[in-house]
Amino acid sequence: MAGTETIPGDIIEKLSAIVGPENVATDEAGLLTYAYDATRLKGTPSAVLRPGSEEEVSKILSLANERGVPVVPRGAGSGLSGGAVPSRGGIVLSFERMNRIISIDAADRIATVQPGVVTGEFQKAVEEKGLFYPPDPGSLAFCTIGGNVAENAGGMRALKYGVTRDYVTGLRAVLPSGEIIRAGVKTAKGVVGYDLARLIVGSEGTLAVVTEITFTLIPLPEKVITMTAFFSGPRQAGKAVSAIMASPFTPRCLEFLDGEALGAGARKIGYALPEGAGAFLLIETDGSPDEADRQMNGIHALLKDNALRINITQDKAASAELWRLRRSTSQALFSIAPHKINEDTVVPVSRVPDALEGFGEIASRFGQKIICFGHAGDGNIHVNVMTDKSDPERLKMAEEAVSEVFRLVLALGGTISGEHGVGLTKLPYIGMELSAAEIELQKKIKSVFDPNGILNPGKIFR
Ligand SMILES: Cc1cc2nc3c(=O)[nH]c(=O)nc-3n(C[C@H](O)[C@H](O)[C@H](O)COP(=O)(O)OP(=O)(O)OC[C@H]3O[C@@H](n4cnc5c(N)ncnc54)[C@H](O)[C@@H]3O)c2cc1C
Repeated sequence: MAGTETIPGDIIEKLSAIVGPENVATDEAGLLTYAYDATRLKGTPSAVLRPGSEEEVSKILSLANERGVPVVPRGAGSGLSGGAVPSRGGIVLSFERMNRIISIDAADRIATVQPGVVTGEFQKAVEEKGLFYPPDPGSLAFCTIGGNVAENAGGMRALKYGVTRDYVTGLRAVLPSGEIIRAGVKTAKGVVGYDLARLIVGSEGTLAVVTEITFTLIPLPEKVITMTAFFSGPRQAGKAVSAIMASPFTPRCLEFLDGEALGAGARKIGYALPEGAGAFLLIETDGSPDEADRQMNGIHALLKDNALRINITQDKAASAELWRLRRSTSQALFSIAPHKINEDTVVPVSRVPDALEGFGEIASRFGQKIICFGHAGDGNIHVNVMTDKSDPERLKMAEEAVSEVFRLVLALGGTISGEHGVGLTKLPYIGMELSAAEIELQKKIKSVFDPNGILNPGKIFR
C-alpha cells in the first residue's frame, strides 16, 4: 500500500481483534487528535491503536509489514520536528496504555519502564527513593519516556549530566517484521556485539518500536542553588556563558533568554523585570552542600561585575517561579507572531557570543524577527524565526533566514539539531551537515531494520 490511502476494512478488523475494539479509533475526531505534534504539522492517520502489551505491538507490526501499511509510533506528540506526525497516513501506535513503571531497583541503581510513562512522573518516583534521573526536557510534565528515547531528548540539566542516551543501559523493541529484540543490558557494563541500544536511541521511531527501557540512575544531589542574572543584552550574556564554561565550574543548568524571549515570558506570567534587562541567564549548581555553594560562589564572582542584577535562592518556591519564567517562554512567543520556525542549533560553547551576534545580523539582513533562548551552557540555542505561514512572501524569507542560520552554525563548528531530531522539519537540510556517503550509510541501516519501509516512513531522509 503506497502512503496515504485508507487502510482496507479487513485490516482494521484484524487490528481491532489484536488490541480490542475499545482501543481502536477510526472516527474523524479520534484521528484528528493524533494528526499533529508540537510543530503544528498535520497528517491524518487511518487508524489510531492503543496497544496494551509488547505482544500486541508485535502482532500489529507483523500485519502492517505484510500489508505495507505505514506505522507511526507516538508518545505525547510534543515533538518539535514532526516525528510523530503520520505524514503518510497509516496507523498511529499510541503508548498511553503502556505507561507502567515496572521497577525501580535502588540496590542496582536501575529502573525499568514502559514507553508511555510521563517523564516528570518517572523522575518523581525515582526521587522518592533518593535517586536521580537527570534528563529533563522542558516538556517533562507531559512528554513520554518513549518519545525521549526516540529523540534522545536533552534538557536543562544536560550540561552537567548528559542526555537520555547516557542513561539507557538496555531496551526491548519490536522490529517492523514483528520480531521482538532485546538490545543492551541491565547491568552497569556490557559489550557483547554492536551497541544496538545506542543506535535505536535517537532513531526517531524509524528503526524499531521501543516497548521497554532500562535506565541507570544516580544518587539525588543533596543541595540545589538557583541564580538568575540579568544582562543589558545577548552579547553580554553570551560572554558570561563562555566565561563560566571556560572556568573550573560546571553548573547543572545554564539557560539563556534574549530580550524578546524574556519580555514575552515575563508578560505571560506577570514577572517584573529590572530596568534595561535585555538578556537573562538561569543557573543552577548542585551536589553536596559545600560543593553546591563553592560552585555558586565561583560563578557569582565571574558574573557580578557585568550583570545588571543577580538573585540567588535556595528556596524551592522562589526557584520554581524562576523556572516558570524560563519554561513559559516557548509558548509565550506566539504573542509576538502567529507562527515560529523553531530550530535547536548547537555551537561549541566558546562560539555562543559569535552565534548570537550572527543570528542578529541574519535577522536584519532578511528583515525577520529572530528570538533566541535555550540551553546555552552546552551551546544549544533555540533559534525561533517568527513568521506568519499564511503570508507566502514572509514565510519564504523566514525559510531563507533558517538556511542562513544553519550555514552559520555549521561554519562555527556546530550542528543543526541538538535534541529535537530531523523528523520532517529538518529533512530538507540534512545534506548541509552530512555527506552523501554518510546519508547513504544511514539509509542502508534503515533498510536492514525496515526493508519494506513501513516504520515512520518519510522521516529523516527523503
Ligand atoms: C514546550 C516544549 C519544551 C520542550 N523542551 C525540550 C527540551 O528541553 N529538550 C528536548 O530534547 N526536547 C524538548 N521538547 C521536544 C519534545 O518534548 C521531545 O522531543 C520529547 O522527547 C518528545 O516526547 P513525546 O512523548 O511527546 O514524543 P512524540 O512527539 O509523540 O514522538 C517523538 C518521536 O518519538 C517516536 N516515538 C514515540 N514513542 C516511541 C516508541 N515507543 N518507540 C519508537 N519511537 C517512538 C515518534 O515516532 C516520534 O518520531 C520540547 C517540546 C515542547 C512542546
